This record gives sequence, structure tokens and C-alpha cells, in this order.
Amino acid sequence: MGLTHMKIKELLDENRLHECEGVGPDHVCVRIAAIAEMPSRFGDFHIIAFYNNKDNKEHIAIVRGDVTNAENVPVRVHSECLTGDVIGSLRCDCRDQLESALRMIGKMDKGILLYMRQEGRGIGLINKIRAYGLQEHGYDTVEANLALGFRDDEREYSVAAHMLMSLHVKSIRLITNNPKKIEDLPQHGIQVTGRIPHVMETNQYNRFYLETKALKSGHLIDLRGKEHLPEQADPPFVEGMDEEMLAVIRKYYK
Ligand SMILES: [Zn+2]
Ligand SMILES: [Zn+2]
Repeated sequence: MGLTHMKIKELLDENRLHECEGVGPDHVCVRIAAIAEMPSRFGDFHIIAFYNNKDNKEHIAIVRGDVTNAENVPVRVHSECLTGDVIGSLRCDCRDQLESALRMIGKMDKGILLYMRQEGRGIGLINKIRAYGLQEHGYDTVEANLALGFRDDEREYSVAAHMLMSLHVKSIRLITNNPKKIEDLPQHGIQVTGRIPHVMETNQYNRFYLETKALKSGHLIDLRGKEHLPEQADPPFVEGMDEEMLAVIRKYYK
């Protein structure tokens, strides 16, 4: 059972004039701006668009079921990656992570994917592609890291935290392979009751690709042997992976 028309109206009404002291050091305040049904190839969702007072970005939540006042809601936080999510770039595995998360949540009674519009970890598309370019011109990972290094984690989680508050989510379980991520949201008032491993399913189409990626880390090293930085900061865990593959993956996400 998804969000009812009445619930949607309630959420929109209370957000119309919402203002609060804010979350995090930047006093982030967000408002639900629009809600619509979002049938997708991964299942039926609602899409909720947010306005916020800080970064001029239109963050969204993809919501499965009625999550208001719910406990232990599975939540995935995904950072936008135009090149991966839309174009299918192999410089990263953002699209695999996004699709697996949506597929997983699409099968659940309740769940949320927060799609944070922080391209290139908040530095923007131009800077991200600049950093890609630098890597092709001899810059090593550390130097390229400097170009990518000024993302603001605090702000990211402040906005995400307030988005969950706006949805009246009582507590969440984070869908992540990165136990460290669980420390961030509680600092902004979100109760995290657990972690759900983000297992990426294999199928006949992606299995070879994922195995190759695991063994060669092909998506993380370009043709000239330069390493790329993972954008989702979450090591992929692929169903059926053996220890050797996992060890390679962990090495690149440590
Ligand atoms: Zn607020
Ligand atoms: Zn990416």
C-alpha cells in the first residue's frame, strides 16, 4: 500500500509553509515540493521532489509504500552520477548500484532511495570530468583526489536527514556495504536501527561484467592503468562473488 491521496495532501499542506531551525552546521531546511506516482521497471514508487534552502539542487526521494511514521524503513542514499546513472559509463559502478538498490526496494513493502543531486560527490559535473581528464594526462590518484576532495559530507547528510524527517520516517535501516556510513545520519537526528547489505544481483547479462570488474577492477582502472575514484564510496557486493573477487573489490574501496 503506497501513499494515499490523503497522506500526500497532508504532506504537501504541512510543507507549504514549513520552516525550521535547520539541520547540521549549515542549518539546512528542506520542504517537500511535489509528489507523484512513479511506476518504473523496478516496481511502483512515488517520487517526491524537495526544495532546500542551501544548495539550489532538486533532491528527490523514490518511495515505496507508506513510509510515514514507519520504523526500520530500508533506505539507500545514492549520489547522482550522470555519466554512470544515465550514460552507463564504466569509469564507475554507480548505475549498477542504483539499479540494484531500486530493484531491491521495489520488492519490499516499504523503502526509500534518496537520490542526491551531488554530481561528482558535490563538486559538479564539470569538475568531475576535469578530474577524469587529469587522470588521462598523467595525474595520479592522489592528485586527482585533490580535485575531487572538497566534497562536503556534512551537508550531504544534513539534507538527507531532513528529507527523511519531512517524510516522518521514525527509524531507518541503511542499505549499504559500508558500516561507516551508519555513523553519519544519527548525527543529524535520524535513528538508524541497522544495516541491510547491498547485495548486487547477478543475471546473465551483468554476471560476466561484474566478475571481470571484480577480478580486474576494470571500471576503476582506465586503459592507461590510472585508477579512478569510486563515487558511491560503497564497495559492491555481488551475489555469488568468491573471496578472491571480494578481496580485489575491497582493495579499491578501502
Ligand atoms: Zn525544516
Ligand atoms: Zn559514477
